[in-house]
Amino acid sequence: MPGLPVLVLNSGSSSIKFSMYESGESARRKLMEGAVDGIGSGEKEGKFWIKDPNDRKIVDQSSHVPDLASAFKLVEDALLSAEKHSGGEQTWPHPAAIGHRVVCGGPTITENQRVSPELIEELERYVHFAPLHNPVALFIIRETLKLFPEVPNFICLDSYFHRNLPEVTRRLPVPAKYTEMGVQRFGAHGISYESIIEQLKPSVPSRLIVAHLGNGASIAAIRDGQSIDTSMGLTPTGGIISGTRTGDIDPGVLLFILRELLKASDDGKHAADELEDAVSKQAGLLGVSKTTNDMRDLRKAIVAGNADARLAVDQFTYTIRKFIGAYIAVLGGLDMLVFTGGIGVNDSDSRAEICSGLECFGIVLDAQRNSARGDVTISPDDSSVTVRVIPPEEDLIMVNHVYRLMAESSH
Ligand code: AMP
Repeated sequence: MPGLPVLVLNSGSSSIKFSMYESGESARRKLMEGAVDGIGSGEKEGKFWIKDPNDRKIVDQSSHVPDLASAFKLVEDALLSAEKHSGGEQTWPHPAAIGHRVVCGGPTITENQRVSPELIEELERYVHFAPLHNPVALFIIRETLKLFPEVPNFICLDSYFHRNLPEVTRRLPVPAKYTEMGVQRFGAHGISYESIIEQLKPSVPSRLIVAHLGNGASIAAIRDGQSIDTSMGLTPTGGIISGTRTGDIDPGVLLFILRELLKASDDGKHAADELEDAVSKQAGLLGVSKTTNDMRDLRKAIVAGNADARLAVDQFTYTIRKFIGAYIAVLGGLDMLVFTGGIGVNDSDSRAEICSGLECFGIVLDAQRNSARGDVTISPDDSSVTVRVIPPEEDLIMVNHVYRLMAESSH
């Protein structure tokens, strides 16, 4: 198959990221990448930028992006733009194939595949399995199909990497009728985990733990390249405390909040949505610190002596340390620990705080290496466990899946 311009769209609750690669059998050449951030931040302006293949910003503007539709309009105009940007170089071709990140496909959609009307309908059935992400992804899929009706669109699932979880971790201990409705552990951040495995090839350690620490945070126990356990459950709200989500919590807390919401409401119609908002958007680092879910701001607040920020970050690092200990037990030891995601890659303090106390498992950090940036080993050379920082390359994984699916469909 000749080289194809493949567009990938990766949308979160407050951002749309996109990039385009010219992809051939093995080579991938980045043509551009961009993002709209800060969608729906009220009075605050969002950011819209596009970089050329040399990392030069060719679009860089602050914009009021009150909602997803206005954010997608910016992306749409940029994708359709045949104009030349500053520097005079050609912008980008029309895509020949498009990939969309979808967090969870539910129990029936476990494989990456081409988008069809039936697939969209099936994804709609399970939007509550990724309540902050799937509705956004579905909106963008629909808009993209309108924009490029002749171009094949594909979904790339985060749940794909965890599709073979053993029954003991997949099954959740709820009454069987809910299991039959699809309630199970799907995990998330699968595309990021896949990208770490891809970057470790051909020497993927047999007993590997990857901590994807971003605004959403999760951790996975990986044996011989296969996910055998992961912290997020049915939805990305479970597992580790993260930016605005509780992580694992006593179900009694949910019942308490639900009862309070029902008491305060006339008809209780919106109680489930309000509960979801409380545990997914108002909790976690934001809930405990009372001010922010952004690790950079939390670190500044800690330096300024803010006790709530200190407690929020302590809960974050403590929970991750506990999960690492549990996953060492699950894996029967550990060969490598990898940090990835915005916090995992950039925040050396979080890495040091998480690893402190894990020396008994052979996890030791070299302070000087830990302060370096980029793709680095941060454990000493003679350490029994290698600790690494590896930035995720989710877009490349999505491009690989799309290219493979296109190649398969052309046979
Ligand atoms: P992600 O969701 O992967 O984009 O990660 C977002 C999180 O990474 C936010 O909490 C940011 O504060 C955090 N982050 C990004 N850059 C830095 C940095 N230089 N130092 C500390 N935290 C950072």
